[in-house]
Amino acid sequence: MSNNFLDGKPFVVTEEHLKLPWAGKGRIAFSCGFCPRQFELGDTVRWVYVESAPNTFVCTEHDGPDVAERFREHWLTVIRPILDRWA
Ligand SMILES: [Zn+2]
Repeated sequence: MSNNFLDGKPFVVTEEHLKLPWAGKGRIAFSCGFCPRQFELGDTVRWVYVESAPNTFVCTEHDGPDVAERFREHWLTVIRPILDRWA
């Protein structure tokens, strides 16, 4: 598999994506940045470049023109405080 998804266009999850070792501590979990559900075969997913916060994948439900903006806010107010607490 190539890193085609880095172009930020929507793609459909294949078996190959699911074999990648992305889940786990210190890695990019293969799930939407807004919902905890891991992506499954056939899901449509988009990789989002986010300024001043980690990049993320997003599901179709949470995608939108302002998704990078919303994820940065979500990261700063929800995710990072949780990570800090467990650090
Ligand atoms: Zn989502």
